[in-house]
Amino acid sequence: MAIPPSSIESLRASLTSSLIFTPGDEGYPESLRRWSDTGRKQAGIVIQPTTESDIVTALNWSQSQQTPIDLAIKCGGHSVSGTSSSSGGLVIDLSRLNTVSVDPSSQTITVAGGAVWRDVDETAAKYGLAAVGGTVNHTGVGGLTLGGGYGWLSGQYGLTIDNLLSARVVLGNGEIVTASERENPDLFWALRGAGYNFGIVTEFTFQGYEQKDPVYAGILAYTPDKVERVIEILNGLLLDKPDPRSGAIAIFARPPGAPVPMVNVLVFYNGTQEEGEARFAELLALEHVANTISMIPYSQMNSLQNPMATYGDRKSFKGVFFNPPLSPSFAGTMLAEFTEKVQSDADLGASGMILEFYDMGKTVSVPRDATAFASRGTTQNGIITLRWSDASKDLEHRAWARDVQERWKGLLEGEGGENLDVRGEAGVPQYINYAEPGDAVVGNIYGSNLPRLKELKRKFDPTNVFRKMHPIPLD
Ligand SMILES: Cc1cc2nc3c(=O)[nH]c(=O)nc-3n(C[C@H](O)[C@H](O)[C@H](O)COP(=O)(O)OP(=O)(O)OC[C@H]3O[C@@H](n4cnc5c(N)ncnc54)[C@H](O)[C@@H]3O)c2cc1C
Repeated sequence: MAIPPSSIESLRASLTSSLIFTPGDEGYPESLRRWSDTGRKQAGIVIQPTTESDIVTALNWSQSQQTPIDLAIKCGGHSVSGTSSSSGGLVIDLSRLNTVSVDPSSQTITVAGGAVWRDVDETAAKYGLAAVGGTVNHTGVGGLTLGGGYGWLSGQYGLTIDNLLSARVVLGNGEIVTASERENPDLFWALRGAGYNFGIVTEFTFQGYEQKDPVYAGILAYTPDKVERVIEILNGLLLDKPDPRSGAIAIFARPPGAPVPMVNVLVFYNGTQEEGEARFAELLALEHVANTISMIPYSQMNSLQNPMATYGDRKSFKGVFFNPPLSPSFAGTMLAEFTEKVQSDADLGASGMILEFYDMGKTVSVPRDATAFASRGTTQNGIITLRWSDASKDLEHRAWARDVQERWKGLLEGEGGENLDVRGEAGVPQYINYAEPGDAVVGNIYGSNLPRLKELKRKFDPTNVFRKMHPIPLD
């Protein structure tokens, strides 16, 4: 239902720091823009505040109207299903709240709730520091952190949430609180893995780490016939020669000009060129068609995938997971099926299948019940990311991706084992941030942390104001 114009006017009059967009305003179409067009919705009103007080005013307004107003919070806007968008309701778009400040003495980095990782990487670098952030630097600090957060530095320092020291949160009743190990520790627990259900985070403080030296990084590209050997090498590096300074992502995708999807491996080594070359010697020795590896500042690392992850078009983002060693023949089958799919429709040319190979030692050293993050385990994550422009193909492409997602789940179920509970009653294998609502293929994305999360939801958000991203039931 449309928001009455008089209500909109009363909100407009009470805001002091915000840009405000309603249908028909200049800038309104741009204010709806998301990373994927599938995430775009026609909001009733979008506000872009720069103060907490405007956030509180808008939040209170949305909750006090006679007819409830749908509320969405936006940071980087990467939700493909539109959990940071609203049809007809209020969007609080935090993107102008994007300051980053560094305390060199404690090496801590304080980040406003609407910043993207580029803001963090570039500011931290000025102080010779780095934070554990996402691998595509235009993703939002907000969504990525509140769902856990993996990045190139996770091998050394764990998840993004493992390096979160405190957060300022606007609760559903408009109260502003700090959450940390000392203040509101139960809220702090919930924020780290299920955070989008508990409030609007206006500020995150992270532990940073010294990162003055460049890193060894770039892409090695192989023809499809090399897929099994590449996966064998990546399995071996992960399991037989674990090294927390190292990581790799295999990306099945068609580089510009290539006739078919290739096997592209993005490698990372936080060390010298010699160390990187030694680490990836087997990959370097395998015949490849391109090699972009060089020594680069860490602050550039998370821009390397940007050309493959640009804004625009329609996208589906379906998380998969596997328990290493990944079967090379299964990976080969997946590449063949992916190739068949993208070759069948020129509109799908910019799609990809992504498989991460991260050292999980540091991540699993934290007990699963120490934070709300339920998929803390040794399973690795991947994403099937289809990209197309024809909206009439939405159902068809999503159905294909869901089917393939089920096949990955089936592989895991066939293997069995301690970390592989697809029912989700114990540790869950699926990463919450790679599972948009409706896409979780595990039965319970919060696993054994769900009962405590329900209790805390009743305590901190009893009227269920925040319910768009993997809602936690109140009962
Ligand atoms: C191209 C791409 C690359 C990615 N790479 C990685 C990666 O390397 N590592 C990784 O772990 N994940 C990665 N992800 C997944 C990513 O973590 C999630 O998509 C995340 O939700 C994106 O956050 P956002 O702020 O950009 O999105 P948004 O759509 O703005 O937000 C996502 C959800 O979080 C909520 N939210 C956001 N900020 C706040 C806040 N401050 N307070 C309260 N709620 C908030 C929103 O309401 C929404 O429900 C990637 C995703 C994409 C699309």
